[in-house]
Amino acid sequence: MTTSSQTRTAELLAIEDTWGAHNYHPLPIVVAHAQGAWVTDVEGRRYLDCLSAYSALNQGHVHPAILKVFIEQASRVTLTSRAFRNDQLPLFCQDLAAICRLDVVLPMNSGAEAVETAIKAARQWGYARKGIPDGAAEIIVCGGNFHGRTTTIIGFSSDEDYKRGFGPFTPGFVSVPYGDLAALEAAITPNTCAFLFEPIQCEGGILMPPAGFLRAAADVCRDRRVLLVADEIQTGLGRTGAWFACDHEDVQPDLYILGKALSGGFYPVSACVGRREVMELFTPGSHGSTFGGNPLGAAVARAALQVLRDEQLIERSAKLGQVLLDALRTIESPVIQAIRGIGLLAGIELREPARAYCERLLERGVLCKETHERVIRLAPPLVIEETDLLWMVDQVREVLTAPVRNA
Ligand SMILES: *Cc1c(COP(=O)(O)O)cnc(C)c1O
Repeated sequence: MTTSSQTRTAELLAIEDTWGAHNYHPLPIVVAHAQGAWVTDVEGRRYLDCLSAYSALNQGHVHPAILKVFIEQASRVTLTSRAFRNDQLPLFCQDLAAICRLDVVLPMNSGAEAVETAIKAARQWGYARKGIPDGAAEIIVCGGNFHGRTTTIIGFSSDEDYKRGFGPFTPGFVSVPYGDLAALEAAITPNTCAFLFEPIQCEGGILMPPAGFLRAAADVCRDRRVLLVADEIQTGLGRTGAWFACDHEDVQPDLYILGKALSGGFYPVSACVGRREVMELFTPGSHGSTFGGNPLGAAVARAALQVLRDEQLIERSAKLGQVLLDALRTIESPVIQAIRGIGLLAGIELREPARAYCERLLERGVLCKETHERVIRLAPPLVIEETDLLWMVDQVREVLTAPVRNA
């Protein structure tokens, strides 16, 4: 990689590092254009995007059908606030509720806001419908979770890096080991209103619970009158080869939390989608967002969902995901500890830090990012060509079969 002081890359890196907060540790590539699964940097080099903005780009970069709607809507009306109605939100809600097999949609912007919305929804259901004493509601969460970055959400994270220096935190959360059914059952009390979980822990390192766990957890929650709240912000909308990762075990949550690919990467759109019995407890003034449900976001999200259907990207994810896993499993390398995945979501767990390998993949034109220190996450746009996918696996093979010299 050439980042001599003359390059535009080096210049932009220096400006950003001076004027921008350092809350990320990005790879040293500065993207200027993108199309489909490919991005081009400011030096004109092309890379295959195998991160997809943490699965916000399932439909690929700058999808032409979404772009068309985006431009049309942006030139008509972008924001009304919820003080007035707009002609896009109703259709978005109707569409998304049907996809989720649920009744009511509450639109927000970022994923974390949708998680916060689900927390509020679950708590107020607990008080109004389950009879939990005021202020005593408990939500069970999982060790190793990632649900976003607000102060409430990081408070129930088990990752010290997310929390250090940001306390005090919101009470009312109880953590159980991920995938541990007995621990979940034991943690439920009369004050438990919800079980909040990721069907696959992506930030946690592409961790999957034992087969049958989701099904069993859903049954336990139903028996004990605990809301099942699935954070599918990263796993939903085709990433795992199904509309939702919960579908793999025929689980229907009471609340879905969605974001990321909901808008195909054009615009932040998230939503908390739930059963009427829960969502009807929101009343005017109880919750809101200035930009949530705006007509530009709603139009873009509908177009993004339509692309998933029109291009059969869910089926494509399942099919290419199998190709990806089969190909990855042919790599013989002493640094590989485990390979996990489903659909176009794969994690290669290494026996050593993954960062240096991601830097080497960058040099070879493959963009990916280490997660949880020792895992390389591979999650390309679902529109990726099979030949590109196999080329990528070849790059991964090359990199993993030549040892990294850490200086
Ligand atoms: C990305 C993510 C979030 C947070 O979404 P933001 O849009 O970054 O706030 C929450 N939960 C999961 C599972 C995620 O992957």
